[in-house]
Amino acid sequence: MKQHFEVVVVGGGITGLMFAALLARSRNGASLGITVLDAAARPQFSADDDIALRVSAIASGSARLLDSVGAWQRIRESRLCPYECMRVWDENDTPDGAAALRFDAAEFALPQLGFIVENILLQDALLRQLDATNVELRFASPISSLRQSGRQYEVELKGGECRVADLVVGADGSRSFVRRAVAIETRKWPYDQTAFVTHLRPEREHRATAWQRFLRQGPLGILPLPDGRVSVVWSTTPDLAKRALDASDAALGTMLTDASDRVLGELAAAGPRAAFPLGAQHAARYVLPGIALIGDAAHAIHPLAGQGANLGLQDAAELAAVLDAALQQGLHPGDEPVLRRYERARKGANATMLHFMTGLNRLFATDSRLVGQLRSAGMRIFNRSGPIRERVVKVALGVR
Ligand SMILES: Cc1cc2nc3c(=O)[nH]c(=O)nc-3n(C[C@H](O)[C@H](O)[C@H](O)COP(=O)(O)OP(=O)(O)OC[C@H]3O[C@@H](n4cnc5c(N)ncnc54)[C@H](O)[C@@H]3O)c2cc1C
Repeated sequence: MKQHFEVVVVGGGITGLMFAALLARSRNGASLGITVLDAAARPQFSADDDIALRVSAIASGSARLLDSVGAWQRIRESRLCPYECMRVWDENDTPDGAAALRFDAAEFALPQLGFIVENILLQDALLRQLDATNVELRFASPISSLRQSGRQYEVELKGGECRVADLVVGADGSRSFVRRAVAIETRKWPYDQTAFVTHLRPEREHRATAWQRFLRQGPLGILPLPDGRVSVVWSTTPDLAKRALDASDAALGTMLTDASDRVLGELAAAGPRAAFPLGAQHAARYVLPGIALIGDAAHAIHPLAGQGANLGLQDAAELAAVLDAALQQGLHPGDEPVLRRYERARKGANATMLHFMTGLNRLFATDSRLVGQLRSAGMRIFNRSGPIRERVVKVALGVR
């Protein structure tokens, strides 16, 4: 008979839910007690609601992972916007200029580069799959303390209830309670940028294209939405983000029409607004005996290439696979050598993406003419660099 272990996942965001779904469906899932705890109320998606403010660019590789746990069908049938092209250009150039980066799905023999999906729909679709498993889902249940007790951890919920876990998975976001409770340090790289997020109605069709214009203060990302609007993520100075939050609809339209260099003509305000302070951070360790961090709890990166959620999904897949292999061999899922296999597989890859995004952001946020010329030359070379270019795009799309 297989030994029974308790796994407590703290955080029911995209990463935590994906991990629970994969582990529950793994060969040894039935012999585990899996609980997901989240501080917030259970997210509910309805196609009658307006498109939610928070959307993510989901790479094809991540879509496949969601499909592997049965969640993709609901997402596809509900609401999403495939994007087939990507245009990246510098504020001194145009989207069709020689130094602009252009990626088209057709050139990589793919039907699309990825999909724009509402975060709440991703959660909802994963939750519906989890409802059909033996995973216990507890919302409105923030954890208030984490204490080591021999080989196990006591996880206390607000209200006093206590769970004993052989493995605690911290999937509780960039301000992770779990990470702080076990004193794992993080390195931080502040950006002095804030991401202003809203939906806009463009004068011209978005043509299923993700647009990114690099401005000195930070990149402006324009993502296509299924109803013809676009989702804007404007990484800019905290002061400009505040002005955008407080602006009238007309003034906001003018600000973003200018910032986008009219690539889609006039942009009109057409949705709620929010702002998120930006910064990169990386946990010094992802694991301790009985503890593993995944997703934003382990690493937070600049949203400029829309990779954060995708990296979290890859963490979830790797940790679930490592645990399944260990359980198959009769090993304890909280053993440090087991968990280190997960850390070794993911930490380097996440660090590479984090430093690449931080570097890219800095490279474009400079006033130096020399750097500007080198940057344009680099982009032109990259455009002509066949295999390197293909490799970079495939890594970003998760279709290696
Ligand atoms: C403006 C912006 C745009 C972005 N765009 C993209 C994109 O296009 N593509 C992409 O891949 N990524 C994008 N990202 C990044 C992406 O949103 C994150 O990487 C991703 O949401 C992280 O998911 P997570 O599940 O790891 O953490 P979170 O989504 O932060 O989830 C953490 C969960 O833990 C819960 N929690 C926290 N504390 C506790 C506690 N004490 N007890 C119990 N539960 C707790 C929270 O309620 C929450 O549900 C973007 C980020 C920003 C800021």
